[in-house]
Amino acid sequence: MPAAPGVARGLSAAGVPAWDNVPMAQPTILVFSAHAADFCSRSGGTLALHARRGSEVHVVDLTFGERGESEDYWARPGPKSVEECKQVREAEAREAAAVLGAGIQFLDYDDYPLAVNREQVEAMARIIRERRPDVVLTHWKHEPFNVDHEVTAGAVLRAAGAAAVPGFDHEAGKVAFPYIFAFEPTIPRDDATGFSPDHYIDIGDVYEVKMEALRKLRSQSKLVRFYTQWAEYRGFQAAQSSGRPVRYAEAFQRYTAVVDTRLPFPETAA
Ligand SMILES: [Zn+2]
Repeated sequence: MPAAPGVARGLSAAGVPAWDNVPMAQPTILVFSAHAADFCSRSGGTLALHARRGSEVHVVDLTFGERGESEDYWARPGPKSVEECKQVREAEAREAAAVLGAGIQFLDYDDYPLAVNREQVEAMARIIRERRPDVVLTHWKHEPFNVDHEVTAGAVLRAAGAAAVPGFDHEAGKVAFPYIFAFEPTIPRDDATGFSPDHYIDIGDVYEVKMEALRKLRSQSKLVRFYTQWAEYRGFQAAQSSGRPVRYAEAFQRYTAVVDTRLPFPETAA
């Protein structure tokens, strides 16, 4: 079900600033994932944490990753097809989303190469209008080794922009431009992507949940090993940055500035 209009941007129903009553603890979250598994590998812990706190979490997979990110399917013996691969990936992604506590839908665009046209961006904008997310998670804007991800990031920014202007589908009414965070680019290439995390989420409490979800994505079995190592790497960075005993973390970089009346501080600060 679509979320009720949130007030996480600090506006009451009457449009009056209400900063001290902002229910940021349970933001509605919308994830745009280029391929079947990206949402889980890069932000599965964060999604599980928020879902367990009561957030509505919804994933939109632009493609099934049928050509480019289903290597275990294509390594199977016997006859194979793109159509069958899509069915397999959809089932796996649904299983993974269920473990995390997220809803999921599939746009069935084509991958490798993914090209999102005007009508498809508008379809994404209508999803944003319908869902009214407080927070959007998607890919980083520069990924020379996985341009499908980069294309997705550009399409999400364009869709969020369209959803926020009055002239697009005028009768439906515009929505606020959400906070947008980028999750991990293709690892381990921060050097090539310029991804520089400014937000870490300690996923230690739900690490096994994320791993269970990743194991559902059987057509990309390497993800379990990759993202175990990466969760430890980001956890190490987070521990170094905070002085806290963070073992596993997910990293994000903001596209949009946070506007508030007070400086942010860690929710777990003593
Ligand atoms: Zn991908």
